[in-house]
Amino acid sequence: MYKIAVLPGDGIGQEVAREAVKILGILSGQQGHEFQHQQALVGGAAVDAVGEPLPEETVQLCRGSDAILFGAIGGWKWEALDYSIRPERAILGLRQKLGLYANLRPVKLLDPLIDASPLKPGVIRGLDLVVVRELLGDLYYGKPRGVEVIPGGKRGTNTMTYTTEEVRRIAIVAFDLARKRRKTVTSVDKANVLETSEMWREVVSEVGRDYPDVQLNHLYVDNCAMQLIRNPKAFDVLVTSNMFGDILSDEASMLTGSIGMLPSASLGGKIALYEPIHGSAPDIAGQNKANPIAMILSVAMMLRYSFDLPKEAERVERAIVSVLVEGHRTEDIRQEGTKLVGTSEMGDLIARHLL
Ligand code: NAD
Repeated sequence: MYKIAVLPGDGIGQEVAREAVKILGILSGQQGHEFQHQQALVGGAAVDAVGEPLPEETVQLCRGSDAILFGAIGGWKWEALDYSIRPERAILGLRQKLGLYANLRPVKLLDPLIDASPLKPGVIRGLDLVVVRELLGDLYYGKPRGVEVIPGGKRGTNTMTYTTEEVRRIAIVAFDLARKRRKTVTSVDKANVLETSEMWREVVSEVGRDYPDVQLNHLYVDNCAMQLIRNPKAFDVLVTSNMFGDILSDEASMLTGSIGMLPSASLGGKIALYEPIHGSAPDIAGQNKANPIAMILSVAMMLRYSFDLPKEAERVERAIVSVLVEGHRTEDIRQEGTKLVGTSEMGDLIARHLL
């Protein structure tokens, strides 16, 4: 029996998490596996209920679970709150408390969606890369930080910081992963301008010497942003820092047609966390328009990485492809001649293929 903490969060996080739970319900009891889940408050929903974005009760539930499924957090309603209790603090806090330093974001184009991508089919057919994003360092956690009043105005400060150990451990994740794939690592930095990046490059190169079978390339982040559009199939494993990874993986998500298609796994501690890469999408929240596939693919990643159930993971992935082949689409990936469905219908259709 596997215990899963489900943290739906805010906006479409609630909607897509509901579909993930639907899938767990279908899988539970099949092949002798039992998936038990318990929900907890996080983000704006937690701020409203108990006055803080990451209640201790939620952290305790996560610590006592075998894996975490996370929806999304944030929204217009909480934008004016002080930074310390903004919903977004919850995911940063959870990553830190659980030691989740490695974020894996597979960017794989599913064949039926080839026309949903803004790039030409020839450029993206067969696209299959993984962004390995460092999650616990960089501008997100670096100190000093804040906004201070200075004569004549204010000054905002955030600090880009990494230790050699933080770079080493994420580089090892990337090289190990590349060994199981096409054996190429592209490390992305801004070493021509930033000292932190210069050190990043040195450490990644040093780790690379232990992996003579894996080819290592270095790219500046600006060039990488361009190459992801020009020739995305040149990438296998792309490893980068927290900030660059945040931006590049949103860019990469569009190659697959929509940000609603990209799952992620955050690893490194005893318990892993799985979430779609998108946010709470307040512009479409509550309208049954969100694409739940990124969330359901995150369930597949959980089955594979936390529970070592690769066959079950593949079943979920195949079910998604089958539904797309049948021509069902949520609005974000809609194309001419396809059948428009809402969030819950998409979840139902995928669930039906798993029965
Ligand atoms: P977003 O990812 O929520 O939305 C960006 C755009 O993509 C929007 O137009 C949205 O409608 C669309 N989109 C996102 N997910 C979709 C899906 N599953 N199906 C269809 N369309 C989808 O990013 P944003 O608008 O920059 O941020 C909104 C809120 O989410 C903010 O409060 C932000 O801080 C938060 N956020 C949270 C997380 C997280 O929980 N891990 C990640 C990113 C942003």
